[in-house]
Amino acid sequence: MEKSILDLVMDFFQQHPKQDFTPDLVTHWVTEQSINNTGHLLKNVWRAIRQLHQEEILIKVKKGVYQYDPERTRDIELDDFPPHMKEAIFKRDNYKCVFCGLGRNDGVKIFADSISPKAKERNSSISNGLTLCDKHYSIKKNRSHIEAGKIFFQEMYKKAVAINDLRMVNFCKCILDTYNQYEIDGLY
Ligand SMILES: [Zn+2]
Repeated sequence: MEKSILDLVMDFFQQHPKQDFTPDLVTHWVTEQSINNTGHLLKNVWRAIRQLHQEEILIKVKKGVYQYDPERTRDIELDDFPPHMKEAIFKRDNYKCVFCGLGRNDGVKIFADSISPKAKERNSSISNGLTLCDKHYSIKKNRSHIEAGKIFFQEMYKKAVAINDLRMVNFCKCILDTYNQYEIDGLY
């Protein structure tokens, strides 16, 4: 697959860990690479850097200076989704958390989480990815998917009660009863 601008920017920083760079230097390298590899010019290096910083992958050392430090970055695992897949997952989910609907437009950080925890299946396709907000990503990371699902329905239930949506209230009740029946404990 052809590399995206995010992939190339990441390549650059990963090849030079713990070194400070201004976007100009990165732009120079990425421009060369993109012309050599793809035959055309990829633009918006600055935007890609800002996005990777927003996702806590790059560290902003000071204004206009960025660094990649494998020890300080939010745990990017080797089997994490590569940037171009992340972007595709975000785009499909409209840059919003699939649980609560909060997203970039609300100033909330988003993450691409994999549905299947099995390393082999993790990155095989974007259908294995979900967009999650900060809060739900950290819940999901620490709990099983089934337990995370319970939180989702607990929140849906609260919302349904608040707006008096009886059909949804009953639906959530049924699901939460099933959780209780199987003794999957709540997290709160
Ligand atoms: Zn959320």
